[in-house]
Amino acid sequence: AKNQGRNTFQFFTPEFNHWVTERLRIENGLRHALARNEMRLHFQPQVSLATRRIVGCEALLRWQPTEGELVMPDRFIPVAEETGLIVPIGHWVLEQACRQLARWDAEGGAPIRMAVNVAVPQLRQPDFVDSVRQALQQAGLAPGRLEIEVTESVLLDKDERISRTLEGLLALGTKLSLDDFGTGYASLSYLRNFRFDVLKIDRSFVSELHRNEADIKLIRAIISIARDLSLQTVAEGVESEAQLEILQELGCNLGQGYHFSRPVPADQLGELMRGEREA
Ligand code: C2E
Ligand code: CA
Ligand code: CA
Ligand code: CA
Repeated sequence: AKNQGRNTFQFFTPEFNHWVTERLRIENGLRHALARNEMRLHFQPQVSLATRRIVGCEALLRWQPTEGELVMPDRFIPVAEETGLIVPIGHWVLEQACRQLARWDAEGGAPIRMAVNVAVPQLRQPDFVDSVRQALQQAGLAPGRLEIEVTESVLLDKDERISRTLEGLLALGTKLSLDDFGTGYASLSYLRNFRFDVLKIDRSFVSELHRNEADIKLIRAIISIARDLSLQTVAEGVESEAQLEILQELGCNLGQGYHFSRPVPADQLGELMRGEREA
């Protein structure tokens, strides 16, 4: 009995205890995050490699608890997905992103596109398409200005509610983007099942691009398939001029990454676009 007791006790390592407390803390905090106005959106520009101008941006969520440090999405999005809290939070993201795009329009900006990350639990909601339509209407935006980013996991999901939502979005006229392409297990043939507009080449293929021949070949193949399927290509994680030039040569359409700008608050992206207009 003594031994057993020790074994049982060993299971709860300090690391495990820490993980449980941390997770509970995030979960509890997330429940009040919207009501306490603790969520923020940052925006990262997407740049045309041909013209070097900003043609779109991606909305990226930040959580600043009233008490405590800034929390990055990799730490709280998984918890939000598991608890279902991603549904109200994601709804807030859509509304805010649309509202911000309309504000930049009003400032006289070029009609850039807004990409918003959407998680699988959101796509399972039967009223998701309606909520997107509403967010667009409230902001007075044409549906084609909004790009819904989903990951490869939706291609493997057999849930019919998801395919119904994707078809609804297609009918509504929003753009559909496949995020983190090449990191999941979805085969290329799945790409034919839904009509995507944009394919985002994952950062892991871009980061070693300038010194890795295999990555160049991979990206060349991805771009060639994307062309055949009439998809626009966006390279993620562009951090240097060297990477940018190779991507341009390979015929990639857009780039996103620290080389152009980190994700920044709305005012700062507005500033960047104003700079372009005045140049
Ligand atoms: P993601 O959709 O793949 O977003 C791109 C991530 O790469 C962002 O991290 C961005 O800050 C980072 N990044 C951009 N350029 C560079 C670069 O040049 N170098 C490097 N090293 N990183 C770069 P972030 O903002 O921490 O977001 C992480 C993930 O959290 C996102 O990955 C996305 O999956 C998720 N996420 C963020 N906002 C939302 C949201 O509103 N809803 C949902 N469902 N997920 C979100
Ligand atoms: Ca994304
Ligand atoms: Ca991505
Ligand atoms: Ca990612």
